[in-house]
Amino acid sequence: MQKDQLFTRRRLLLAGAAALGAAGTAGVVLASDAEDAARTVVPAAGPPPRSALKSSAFRLQPLTGYGPPRTEPRKLRVRTEPIMEIPKSGRHMMLTFDDGPNPNYTPHILDTLAKYDVRAMFFLCGECIVVNRELVARMAEEGHVVGNHTWTHPLLTTMNRSEIRDEMASTSDAIEDTYGERPQWFRAPYGAWNRAAFQLGAEMGMEPMAWTVDSTDWTTPGTRTIVDIVEHGAAPGVVVLSHDAGGDRSQSVKALREYLPYLLDNGYHLTVPRRRT
Ligand code: ZN
Repeated sequence: MQKDQLFTRRRLLLAGAAALGAAGTAGVVLASDAEDAARTVVPAAGPPPRSALKSSAFRLQPLTGYGPPRTEPRKLRVRTEPIMEIPKSGRHMMLTFDDGPNPNYTPHILDTLAKYDVRAMFFLCGECIVVNRELVARMAEEGHVVGNHTWTHPLLTTMNRSEIRDEMASTSDAIEDTYGERPQWFRAPYGAWNRAAFQLGAEMGMEPMAWTVDSTDWTTPGTRTIVDIVEHGAAPGVVVLSHDAGGDRSQSVKALREYLPYLLDNGYHLTVPRRRT
């Protein structure tokens, strides 16, 4: 019950800010290092937001009637391609896990991340959230960032706009109910983006996040291969794609136990984006 109360309080606090985050500071600001975060912002595609009217102009308008709007509407910033990496400074990398949560694999991933005091991103599917609510609550408690990966993991490029909206909106609702905040990040299943997905994501306050290095764990190539791909692909700014659901992910679980200490030993800081306000 205390957790529910906490979520409600956080929801109330965040309700205003979360509504249209994409129209504000777009890009990736990292959570791990406030000093770095202040100066490492990936610029968003598209024009800068239009500046608001000077407040003094409003005072000359009658309080009622049909004068100009009191605030100029913000222009929605819609990307045409997803973000594929995070700022390179400070040897930052980011680990992401898709398709969960799953009771067989996600707890082991979370245990390993906790052992090394590392935060990651989880792109969740709505149909998995509603049967594994406690795992989403654990992600929130342990400081991980969750993103929207649709409800049923469909190929969005075969769907119409209203079907895509349903997939995305219902998943954001489920995340809010379980994680306590609406997601600010979205990842298209199979990395198959289209214009409607970018537009709808922006309308729902989410930035599109892809990846730099595919661990290929979804092909179950063997733990050694997954470890090699991640370790050889390691570089500042890299976002790693892995999975904690959608099939037998025991290789993904074992691989993380090997490559995570390797990355840390090699001076990488595993981080997540800071919440946009
Ligand atoms: Zn997926």
